[in-house]
Parts: sequence; C-alpha cells; structure tokens
Amino acid sequence: MGGSAVVVGGGIGGLAVAIGLRRVGWEVTVVERAPVLADVGAGISLHANGLRALDALDAGLGARVRAAARPQYTGGTRAPAGRRLARMDGAALERELGTPIVGISRAELHRLLRAALPAQCLVVGVEVTSVVGTDSGRVRVPVGNGVKEVDLVVAADGVHSRLRAQLFPDHPGPTYSGSTVVRAITERPVGLDADFELTWGGGAEFGHIAFVDGRAEWHAVYNAPVGVRYPDVLAEMRRRFGSWHEPIPALLDGTRADAVLHHDIHELVTPLPAFAAGRIALLGDAAHAMTPHLGQGACQALEDAVVLAAALAAEPTVDAGLSRYDAERRPRSQAVARAARQAGRMGQRLAHPLAVAVRDTALRLAPSRVTVRAVLRHADWRPPELG
Ligand SMILES: Cc1cc2nc3c(=O)[nH]c(=O)nc-3n(C[C@H](O)[C@H](O)[C@H](O)COP(=O)(O)OP(=O)(O)OC[C@H]3O[C@@H](n4cnc5c(N)ncnc54)[C@H](O)[C@@H]3O)c2cc1C
Repeated sequence: MGGSAVVVGGGIGGLAVAIGLRRVGWEVTVVERAPVLADVGAGISLHANGLRALDALDAGLGARVRAAARPQYTGGTRAPAGRRLARMDGAALERELGTPIVGISRAELHRLLRAALPAQCLVVGVEVTSVVGTDSGRVRVPVGNGVKEVDLVVAADGVHSRLRAQLFPDHPGPTYSGSTVVRAITERPVGLDADFELTWGGGAEFGHIAFVDGRAEWHAVYNAPVGVRYPDVLAEMRRRFGSWHEPIPALLDGTRADAVLHHDIHELVTPLPAFAAGRIALLGDAAHAMTPHLGQGACQALEDAVVLAAALAAEPTVDAGLSRYDAERRPRSQAVARAARQAGRMGQRLAHPLAVAVRDTALRLAPSRVTVRAVLRHADWRPPELG
C-alpha cells in the first residue's frame, strides 16, 4: 500500500522515516523549521540495533555510515583520578552482534541521511505547529503559504513536539531530568588511548567518543538546576573537570570556546498512551524522549523508522499499519526509556559519596561479560525487512 506523507521534523528520526517510506513506495515531504538542514550536536554512538535499522532502510546507507564511523573497541569506565572501573570489550560485542558500537559526528550522520533522499523531498525554514484531520480521514498540513493534504503525518518534531501536545493535550509533556549536558567536538585530533570512555564522579560524568579522523566528541553530564548558564562555559568545564585524569584536560584544551553546546536534558517520564492518533504517527524523541545514559535515543528513532515503513507496507490500510506500528514500537521503546533513566540513577546521577563508593566497587568487581550483557539487552534487535 503506497500513499502520501508529510514528515514534520528533519532530525535523524524524520530523515530516516522518509527514507523508509520512500523505499516502500510512498511520496514523502519532510518539513523542517530550521532554515538549514544540518543537525547540530556533537557526536553519537550507534549500537547494533541502530546500524541494523540503517541497513534495513537502505543497505548502501548502512555501509556508508559504517565507513564514516569509528568502531569503538577500547575504553570503558574510570574514576576521576583515572582508576579503571570497567572495561568495554568491543571485540566481544562484535562476536555477539557482528559489530561493535560505532562513533560518528552527528553532522556527518545527518549528511549521509540527507544524501539518501532527493533534495526536492526536503522543505526547510517552515514550522508546522498543528494539523487538521478531514472527513475523508486524510490530514491537512499547513506548509508555508500552502496546505498539503496527505494520507499520513509523521510527527518527528523532537522532545518538545508541538504535534504531540496537540494530539495528547492531557499529557504532561517533557520533564527536566535533573541533568544538564555540555558537549563539543575537538578542533583537532587529540591523542587518545581509548575509543570510548566514561568517567564517573559524584553526580557527574565526562565521556568521549573518538572519530575516524582523530578528533573526538566529549560530553559532560552533571546534576544541576534547570536553566543555569555560564558566560564562559568552557572555563566552567575546566573548573569542574580540569583536574580529572587525562585525556579530559587535553580534550578541553583541544576545543574552541565557540564550539561548545549546552542543553538541559528533558525526557518523557509519563509514557504516551499511543504512538498514533488518527492518521498521525509519533516517532523518535516526539514519542519517547529518553535520557542519554544508554546512548539509545537515536537508535530507537531509527528502529521506529523501519518498523513504521514495514507496518504500512504490510497492512492493507493506513489505520491498520499505524496500529501495528504502535503495538510493535511502544512497549520496546518505552522499556528502553525506563532502562535509560535507571542507568542514569545508578550511574551519573548518584551524588552521595557513600553511594558513589558502592557503585564504583560494584563496577570494579563485575566481570566484563556483565557489561557486554547490559549492552546486548537493548542492542540485539533485528529489523523487519522492507521487501
Ligand atoms: C547529550 C546527548 C547524547 C546523546 N547520545 C546519543 C547516542 O550516543 N546514541 C543515540 O542513539 N542517541 C543519543 N542521543 C539521543 C538522540 O540525540 C535523540 O534521541 C535523537 O537525535 C532524536 O532524533 P529525532 O529526529 O527524534 O529528534 P530531533 O533530533 O530533536 O529532531 C527534531 C527535528 O524537528 C524539528 N522541528 C521541531 N519542531 C518543529 C516544527 N514545529 N516544525 C518543523 N520542524 C520542527 C527540529 O528543528 C529538529 O530538526 C543523545 C542525546 C543527548 C541529549
């Protein structure tokens, strides 16, 4: 069954679902409010489930992302003075899943997704804040000065989704997680011993993901009241993390002050009762914004994209396709969101010195297969085929 769709939001989720829908014969327009399509943000790690979703959307796309990404074989978790708490075994993950986790800059991932779509599919600089259902079951979407009438709207408009608020007016919306994130990509290659590392202090985490070209993204996630900002955020990071082990000072030194981003992390604590209402599907952060503590948000958006396209291709009507999408995606993505919150509670967010000491000891004593199993729990997912 083919049809016409408007995807609201040109982030990772929106572009991915546009690729999937086109693959199963739909005509798609992606409407993005930003004047330029270039996802800001630093770096991202993709687990096997995200990579498999990319392969299912377009085998060439999966291969191009792998070629532009750096496999994360070495690293793990350390304490601020440098003591190793847990080792990441990328080779063991590769044996189990066929791939280790890979790291890529978000801008590069976004560019590769855009390149898999014809330019005329993408409309930029247009905000969609509401849509209207018609008596025939189709949906009218105001796009700039015109109106498009389509069979399906996909709301991929992120954690602060306007369309979600329209569809579920009683839902409380996103909640501040209690953690804020400061992140950047270094200006130049930095000598790194590990592909991926997290360092846990009290109520704070500093991590890096190395890229193919030797540069790296770093992120500092820490407990803070919502909305606190600094005139010189890089200086504030040096004050907080400058005395932590290398390469943390080197990563901060290798970063230009104007490259640093600072966001408060919001999540959907109250799960949505449905991922579809009428002919509107919610996808990605609009449906299940989660904290970044498992590195699964974008991977889940990629899963949504394949499953939605496959469900619409398999079912005889849009309504049946959307019911199937809701049934297949809601339990899993909401479980991953709960697990991410829990991972934050037991990890980055722990602030009491005694709790931190117990956490660190437990991590040091845990065999490395426990860490591998924790990743496998969410990453070992197989996409449906798009035919
Ligand atoms: C610090 C941090 C680290 C993370 N690390 C990872 C990781 O390592 N691995 C991983 O898988 N995930 C990670 N994530 C999660 C991941 O970034 C998100 O889950 C993912 O980007 C969500 O994609 P999306 O397309 O649903 O939403 P978004 O990326 O938010 O895209 C929404 C798009 O919609 C547009 N838009 C919004 N409103 C409108 C409107 N009204 N009209 C038109 N356009 C609109 C926006 O401009 C935006 O382009 C991380 C998140 C954070 C905060």
